[in-house]
Amino acid sequence: MHDSRYKETKQGFYWLCRSDGIEEKLTNNFPFLNVCYCVPSEEAPLRYNIKGNIDALCRLFGACCPIESLSYFLTPSRILYENAVMQEFIPAKVGDSFGPTWWTSWFRVTLTIPKAWKGEEVHLVWESDGEALLWRNGIPVQGLTKEGEKISYVLTEKLTDEEPHSLELYVELACNGLFGAGQGSMISAPDPNRSFTLYKAELVVFNRDVHELLIDFEVLSDIAKHLGIENQHSYQALYTANKMVNACDVEDRSTFAKVHRLASDFLQQENGKSQHTVHAMGHCHIDTAWLWPYEETIRKCARSWVSVLRLMEKNPSFIFTCSQAQQFEWVKSWYPGLYTQIQEFAEKGQFVIVGGTWVEMDGNLPSGESMVRQFLQGQRFFQQEFGKQCCEFWLPDTFGYSAQLPQIMQGCGITRFLTQKLSWNLVNEFPHHTFFWEGIDGSRVLTHFPPGNSYEMKCKVEEDLSTKIKIKADPPIRYHGSSPLSKCDDAFRMRWVKQSSPETFFSILEADTTMLCTWVGELFLELHNGSYTSQAKIKKGNRKCECILHSVEVVSSLASVQKDTFEYPSSQLQHLWRLLLLNQFHDVLPGTCIQPVVEDAVKFYEEIQSNGNELLKEAIQCLLGGSEQETGKNIHVLNTLSWERTEVISMPRLEGDEVLALIKVPSVGFATVTKPLVPPHPVIVNSQGDGSVLMENGILKVAFDSSGRITSLSHLLYKRETIPDGCCGNQFVLFDDVPLYWDAWDVMDYHLETRKPVSQVVKPLEVVCPGGVRGSVRYSIRISDSSKIRQEIILDACCPYVKFKTEVEWHEAHKFLKVEFPTTVHSLNATYEIQFGHLQRPTHRNTSWDWARFEVWGHKWADLSEHGFGVAILNDCKYGYSVHRNIMTLSLLRAPKAPDATADMDHHQFTYAIMPHAGSFQEANVIQFAYNINYPLHIVPAEPSVSASSFWSAFSIQSPAVVLETIKQAEDRQNALVARLYESHGSTVVTWLHTSLPVKQAIWCDLLEQPMTIKPLSITDFQIQLSFTPFQIRSLLLTF
Ligand SMILES: [Zn+2]
Repeated sequence: MHDSRYKETKQGFYWLCRSDGIEEKLTNNFPFLNVCYCVPSEEAPLRYNIKGNIDALCRLFGACCPIESLSYFLTPSRILYENAVMQEFIPAKVGDSFGPTWWTSWFRVTLTIPKAWKGEEVHLVWESDGEALLWRNGIPVQGLTKEGEKISYVLTEKLTDEEPHSLELYVELACNGLFGAGQGSMISAPDPNRSFTLYKAELVVFNRDVHELLIDFEVLSDIAKHLGIENQHSYQALYTANKMVNACDVEDRSTFAKVHRLASDFLQQENGKSQHTVHAMGHCHIDTAWLWPYEETIRKCARSWVSVLRLMEKNPSFIFTCSQAQQFEWVKSWYPGLYTQIQEFAEKGQFVIVGGTWVEMDGNLPSGESMVRQFLQGQRFFQQEFGKQCCEFWLPDTFGYSAQLPQIMQGCGITRFLTQKLSWNLVNEFPHHTFFWEGIDGSRVLTHFPPGNSYEMKCKVEEDLSTKIKIKADPPIRYHGSSPLSKCDDAFRMRWVKQSSPETFFSILEADTTMLCTWVGELFLELHNGSYTSQAKIKKGNRKCECILHSVEVVSSLASVQKDTFEYPSSQLQHLWRLLLLNQFHDVLPGTCIQPVVEDAVKFYEEIQSNGNELLKEAIQCLLGGSEQETGKNIHVLNTLSWERTEVISMPRLEGDEVLALIKVPSVGFATVTKPLVPPHPVIVNSQGDGSVLMENGILKVAFDSSGRITSLSHLLYKRETIPDGCCGNQFVLFDDVPLYWDAWDVMDYHLETRKPVSQVVKPLEVVCPGGVRGSVRYSIRISDSSKIRQEIILDACCPYVKFKTEVEWHEAHKFLKVEFPTTVHSLNATYEIQFGHLQRPTHRNTSWDWARFEVWGHKWADLSEHGFGVAILNDCKYGYSVHRNIMTLSLLRAPKAPDATADMDHHQFTYAIMPHAGSFQEANVIQFAYNINYPLHIVPAEPSVSASSFWSAFSIQSPAVVLETIKQAEDRQNALVARLYESHGSTVVTWLHTSLPVKQAIWCDLLEQPMTIKPLSITDFQIQLSFTPFQIRSLLLTF
């Protein structure tokens, strides 16, 4: 033992004196060891002994020589190679810096490899703090990223006289780092003026044998370090390393092969049968946009994937898994040559497509139909481009997983699921790594969380060991790791690590699942709960666009069946859907991205809305005739939802103005209105002397104080007060919202201790609509010097809810705005709408699992009910809720400053409603009313010749439990529609679907629109009998 840091004790033990003063027991029987035991906090002494010595005489990089010339040109945009090489390049040198942030510097590099290097492996070393892509003969050949430890490109593995020694290469340097350009910290808003330095550009001789030895020693050292002194392999690793050092003559490279063999002999020893096998496969988690814009992701894909191809060429057993059809589609159009190579490696089984979705989307907020489209677009793309579909859903990094996902996966041909994000839980440790996950309908998928608890595992010994240890009670041969791009060699030297594929790994799991546990319900992430609210514009864009695309598809479907001249806009709809799906990426829809991404996302939403509205107008015009230019006094009102609606609408008049009118519209159809309905109970509005106002519509009676708060809300039929004595509903509250680190992501439980009511009146309550078909009042209050709320509160005739049309001027820092409704309801659970259904969460905080859900997500409604009575909150673009005991709270706006310093600083408009109801929320049609708020009726002036009222309904369903969510043209089939329905009450139902359309054949199909049986359903008198189990999603293929 020649290291002074070791000392012998009386007991014959050696102790390692660490630099932090702590002594560590090492060994008692290695008297002649050359090799030191590594200290985690220091650079490995092993490296000093071996690398230090070897470096002295024959370093990892041997001879080097400068490149011949270097020139560059800067561009603010990301341009194609063909355009770049035509530009004028000016001289540059190593040490120069390039910028600003997000620009691109293209370099022309000319070099000549010295003839004297014949027989050597020659690399170009390129070290810069911007991400780079190397081009050779017009083809991208290597990604070069300093932060990714990838800084060299193999020019030749063994230089021959015949190969060209003089080359001209191009380097495309992105002026951003691996994680963007955060100012001060990774997630801070980007520094717009950063510059990126070129530190090195030279030719070197690469000593492969030295590289091999370094990895051998690193692995052995890590085994010794991390297995611990109780484990005999730890000693064996040390002995082997010691033998290697003794056998290694650094002045005689011919000894290196023998030294390498010593390591191999140790590492390749057979496992005992009880040992785990680690199934490792390459994966590279490329966020489709995050701390960099969408456009940069296209280049990130090229840089990463081209590097992967180089590894595959070198190692034919290397397998790389890759998800997200959108990224493939980008690479296909931007890098067609690279894409062809990827397809070839996919054919060989090395480049493995996984996931089946368009992007790795957020797992909470997209609607049920959006989630179906993620798979429909993804699986169809993979089928077209790679001749197969994915068998496993792959979503390592999103902020929780909807309890409806298992059924959606199963409907899209997927039975396996991989993620790991629940390892980020702040409070409770998720109990399983391999288990069945069961959704709200009872569908199950085999699920695996890699026990390394990361999607960025480097396949180091430490990770692999922790993986094996964390398996705990799971069966013994169960694990799946992932490996990075540059160092995949390391792990595969260990005998328990096997290069594998998802197919192999899951097949082994599936062979024996008898001992696996089942987790029922959502996979709730106990972190990042602010992401249900951050970037309100993105959330609103998502909801509005989901609704528009629904309407375009319904009306276009009806028009295509009814009118021969109408052409269903399938390619336009595919484009708009793909934009919407892209924005559902797991850092965009959650609002955890930088400002340029928000700008792109908003631009895409605007495109969907304007093109969607245009398509809708064309389809309506074709279906109904008439147009906005018509001057007739009658109107058509179109309803795309599958139930009859009675609502107050704003009706255009011949005089050019608009008048409120109560109308009735049939299910999935239209009414031609010549005369509005007379409300059975007109709304009565009474202003009181103290500034308060009373409104009543025969269903509800509501009292407001002068600051817009509800002091009383009575359900007249049930004779029940909703607001407890002394409390106020519609109470705005403001919280300090300072998370520990992840600003846009997190809201911490301690924010609840800072609640402050917002009630400083700017304009007291005043009546706007005096009653009749509508009563309404408005007021405004102040949040702070720079923020205020303006609200119109509406009670319509025949309407069972009070609606709050809200505008907020919001300029705050680290504040959270919510609105509260204390209720008289006592219940242990509240119900929240999720995709194609709902689930319950506790209103109490008994256990850590309960209180960790202090802020939760839901879609269009949440409900708190006791037997016979309840209260629901409905909304048109919000997702964050909390119900604690009897207080229902809707989360409205946050003010995080990272990664977008300007997040949510704007004018906001949104609508929510409160709906007390008799009976259960199912009996009270809460689900339908929440849809109504989100899917407005479409009003079109009728041609002057239309003079009689008429009704037409394309589809209706007998049972209120069943929702006809989607009507669209079937993919690749012009004469067929898909009608997607789901059971929304959580009940078993047999019902009838009525259609007035000339359906020739109806057959069940899966979510990918493939027929599930050959036997069609019988159609009698335009009716089809359908049956559903609780929360079942079923799709009908209707042929015409
Ligand atoms: Zn991610």
